[in-house]
Amino acid sequence: MSDPKPELSLTDQTVKLLQALIRNAAVNDGTPDSGNEIASVRTLDAFFGKALDVPGIQSEVVDPHPGRSSLIVRVPGRDPSARSLLLIGHLDVVPVETAGWRRGPFSGEIVDGEVWGRGAVDMLTLTAAMAAVTKQAIAQRSRLRGDLVFAAVADEETGGDYGTGWITRNRPDLLRADDALTEQGGMLIDPSRPDSGITLGIGEKGRSPRRIHVTGVPGHGAVPWGSRSAAEIAAEIVLHLLRNPAPPVILPYWRSFVHALGVDADLTAALLDPARVDAALPRLDDLAALGHALTRMTVSPNIVRAGDKLNVIPGEATIDLDIRVLPGQTAAEVDEWLQRTLAPWRESIRVTGSLFEPGNISPTDTGLYSRIITVFREQYPEALPAAVIGPGGSDGRFLRAQGTNVYGFGLYSPRLPLAEFRGRLHANNERVDLESIDLTTRALAKIVLP
Ligand SMILES: [Zn+2]
Repeated sequence: MSDPKPELSLTDQTVKLLQALIRNAAVNDGTPDSGNEIASVRTLDAFFGKALDVPGIQSEVVDPHPGRSSLIVRVPGRDPSARSLLLIGHLDVVPVETAGWRRGPFSGEIVDGEVWGRGAVDMLTLTAAMAAVTKQAIAQRSRLRGDLVFAAVADEETGGDYGTGWITRNRPDLLRADDALTEQGGMLIDPSRPDSGITLGIGEKGRSPRRIHVTGVPGHGAVPWGSRSAAEIAAEIVLHLLRNPAPPVILPYWRSFVHALGVDADLTAALLDPARVDAALPRLDDLAALGHALTRMTVSPNIVRAGDKLNVIPGEATIDLDIRVLPGQTAAEVDEWLQRTLAPWRESIRVTGSLFEPGNISPTDTGLYSRIITVFREQYPEALPAAVIGPGGSDGRFLRAQGTNVYGFGLYSPRLPLAEFRGRLHANNERVDLESIDLTTRALAKIVLP
């Protein structure tokens, strides 16, 4: 007689799954043939095993492009009128620069209580926890009121064309849910204070990229004096844009974030005053850049091109602007701002591009939002909720567009506060401590199976 295999705890399941997902190295470099998320879909398929054969459980793999697989599992609840909940995690990770890492970036090894590897915080820990909790929910499905949907998706890191974007366009039925949880929440802002703010993602900025075409006067590179090079004009414009950011706009979520910072009344007042916020931001130290991004449209001149021959003064240049807009800001506001700020170069430039994806935000007066806060407070009883929006884009925008309330979730230990977490995103030496994995897994289980 053989002993039955001892059951791994929910957290241990998450840890093992996280290690396996890191080791799959589902690196999305932006090309269609990268990612190879199919390896992680197979890992998840093996993890769920017979659970996916349980009657009533619907599971489906979609492959919009060879290797770019997403797995969606729907677990029916007992009450069809109850709100449904989608847990959506991405499987892909961004590339690494191995030379900068102190441990193997795809090792998944545990050193000093931390799991190392690309994806540890963005966002394989949460994806693994979602899978573990979903498997438990299948085993205990009589406890589920509304439907539970688990989606492990491809291609989040390059815009979702082979993942959530594709699915919401072509198979919206698969991801249909009233509420959804995804990444980016549950980090303490200042773990030294018992009443630290704790973040809860409620939205994200939109984007509106533009290209500036610069026209100068070409000439011989050996005689540059008095020339008007397109490279020179482009350089002036780049410096101008970086030194003259768009004016700040104070929105309600910024108020919530500032109040949760727990800084003195003076600094709080300055951070909430459009006339004083820019001067006050540096006092936020490692959160200053985030504060800057959350209080305005940002314009980052990220690709600059001029010239292709060494002895020719370039007559043409282009500047590609990565522009991120706040919820509520419009394409017209973007174009008006550019016209105004670039007026001194009006004769030499032309701006093209019309793509506009709006910022988006979910309400905070919902049952799920307060449930999340309750679960956070079971761990950090005095923590102040800080509703935040992400400065970048995520798959949440596709879901909000189809009417789903989406919240950024997780629950992290004092070892992984907000600034540290943000510093590990897409960076060298990405890793996550075991306590954060445990907190995240157990908090998610409380939400899904109250
Ligand atoms: Zn992510």
